[in-house]
Amino acid sequence: MDRIDFRSDTVGWPTPEMREAMATARVGDDVYGEDPTVNELEALAAERLGKEAGLFVTSGTQGNLVAVLGHARRGDEAILGYESHIFQWEVGGMASIGGILPHTIPTDAMGRMDLAAVEAAVREDDDHYGHSTLLLVENTFGGRGGIPLPADYFAALKEVAGRNSLAVHLDGARLFNAAVALGVEARELVADVDTVTFCLSKGLCAPVGSILCGPADFIKEARRTRKSLGGGMRQAGILAAAGLVALTSMIDRLAVDHENARRLADKLGTIDGVNVPKETVRTNIVFFRVEGGISPQDLCSRLDEEYAIGLDTYPPDYLRAVTHFWVGEKEVGALADAVAEIMKTA
Ligand SMILES: *Cc1c(COP(=O)(O)O)cnc(C)c1O
Repeated sequence: MDRIDFRSDTVGWPTPEMREAMATARVGDDVYGEDPTVNELEALAAERLGKEAGLFVTSGTQGNLVAVLGHARRGDEAILGYESHIFQWEVGGMASIGGILPHTIPTDAMGRMDLAAVEAAVREDDDHYGHSTLLLVENTFGGRGGIPLPADYFAALKEVAGRNSLAVHLDGARLFNAAVALGVEARELVADVDTVTFCLSKGLCAPVGSILCGPADFIKEARRTRKSLGGGMRQAGILAAAGLVALTSMIDRLAVDHENARRLADKLGTIDGVNVPKETVRTNIVFFRVEGGISPQDLCSRLDEEYAIGLDTYPPDYLRAVTHFWVGEKEVGALADAVAEIMKTA
């Protein structure tokens, strides 16, 4: 890559192996179901997650929206964490496109919803209320710094969901980061959810795409919904070829990104005026705060202008660094050194 960029794991480029696979991919018209590479990717993803079927979608946002539209009807309520990606960062699509009301509840510092709060959010059967039909969960939980949540949390939620006839959809954009961090198979983390979306395009380095997995009949209908949202792609095997490389050779190495995130957190933690909540650094995301005269925005601008290093702010007052394939130990050192220099004069 041309520059050191920690703004997100979405900024990474496809790997040379991916470009090669893309150049030689077998393709067909996927709207006709005739793209062999897309079909292979969808089957492999479903198999890895222990679900019946998969659907290649343009993005995590589209996958989540397609899933929500499949589980809930207009006027229904979906229960989800206030800090969740679907509520904060997906343009309110469930409401604007689906007519579905988000019913938010708080998450704790580790991104977990309280089970009693979930239960309390379920509406009674009363003509004044919308129907509560869906529970939305997330893993890793990005809004708290990429926290990997274990299978027993989802098992407990499933119990509440089952008692209240709620379907459960997991926004697993960084599901494989969670699996690698917890040392379990991804399928174990999704055993208790009905449907799941994960991104090929973040730490797994594919240029485009996510996969929605779930029961075969649900995915059949999801395919129609995707089409209605403009997500019916033609020779998408060009993209799916990179996704196959992502799934077969990019998962285990996420441990390296996690190691680099810990390394960065340790280095930043030694700098005066920098405050790193280290207990949240469990995968590839490092949140930190700066004290003294400098604002998070100013620090980002100076890193960009003086050091050509990309970093982002995150609400309310955090800076966020995300490690990925294209930033290693050397880049971690460069970022920490640059922050130390700037903080000296802040
Ligand atoms: C990135 C992300 C998404 C959305 O993925 P896009 O491909 O950017 O639309 C959804 N949920 C979480 C937690 C994410 O980090």
